Amino acid sequence: MSKFFSSQLNKLSPYVPGEQPQGRQYVKLNTNESPYFPSRYSIDGISREELEKLRLYSDPECMELRKAIAEYYGVKKENVITSNGSDEVLAFAFQAFGSKGIVFPDITYGFYSVFASLYNLDYKKIPLKEDFSINVNDYLSTRKMVVLANPNAQTGKYLELSEIEKIVNENADNVVLIDEAYIDFGGESAVKLTKKYGNLVVVQTFSKSRSLAGARVGFAVANEELINDLNRIKYSFNPYNVNRLSILLATNAIKDKEYFEFCTKKIIEEREKLTCELTKRGFTVLDSKANFVLARPNAIKGKELYEKLKERGVLVRRFDDERISDFVRITIGSKEQMQTLLEQTDKILGEKL
Ligand SMILES: *Cc1c(COP(=O)(O)O)cnc(C)c1O
Repeated sequence: MSKFFSSQLNKLSPYVPGEQPQGRQYVKLNTNESPYFPSRYSIDGISREELEKLRLYSDPECMELRKAIAEYYGVKKENVITSNGSDEVLAFAFQAFGSKGIVFPDITYGFYSVFASLYNLDYKKIPLKEDFSINVNDYLSTRKMVVLANPNAQTGKYLELSEIEKIVNENADNVVLIDEAYIDFGGESAVKLTKKYGNLVVVQTFSKSRSLAGARVGFAVANEELINDLNRIKYSFNPYNVNRLSILLATNAIKDKEYFEFCTKKIIEEREKLTCELTKRGFTVLDSKANFVLARPNAIKGKELYEKLKERGVLVRRFDDERISDFVRITIGSKEQMQTLLEQTDKILGEKL
């Protein structure tokens, strides 16, 4: 830190992204990206003419993209705000609604505590149950902003929509934010509840189920008043927050339902297969509705497995949080990638015998 760095931010400890290796080619199963290409409509939409338009600013209202998202979910475009990755709209929401404090689970997306620190907001981590599920009763009448990833980050565990509704209903005086980065892999979205509840914000991303992590596009759906609040932050920060090419890529991607269904179905199939194969090998595998599984090997430490897999060209993710430090998080890739992962795992476990 230089002597010029703001003293209020002395204690800020920034988010640490998963590795994005630029040299060696890994079987990359560490940051929950899609193994599939973006929709061909997305790719074909980037013409020379569109590239030439880069001299012009992008549409600050992201009208075409918001309309496409609104149509997909059967809401109005006034109920949608788009952002530079969902991380950005999450940051807007923390700033906009977090002043009374924020609660979220002890094991969840690491960015929540970082945003809270960045904006100097009080937050409390509520421990997940022993089996890593959310205790709904912990989130009733909190008098604070509630932030839940569903399915939850790191664990992959899914909370039924009726349980989400209970939490939203019992927190009428504060905002409940549901981060649905992984909802397309078998969960039911809470978007439809935004019509009924004026305190619910649902955040989604194009990074996971729509193969556009590198384009950086996310969005939130909520009632119009909450969206206006989020826009107040956006227009005080970066009005042109989504670039021209990303608007185009995402608009074409969300219209391509057929390809989306093909990709998500494949990933769900591979997830179920992997869960079964790892269980056979003695792993404890949490029941996941996401595009990853969190699994603990029994014959070897998670950290050792992570390191040995990396030596063998397979990159998975692990975390230092005490409760999950013996686990590895494995992104669901293609069938071939899952085969490689299992082959290498077998070799590593074999050496241990
Ligand atoms: C990946 C992820 C995000 C961030 O997604 P971007 O849209 O790429 O910024 C947000 N929340 C959770 C829980 C995630 O796993």
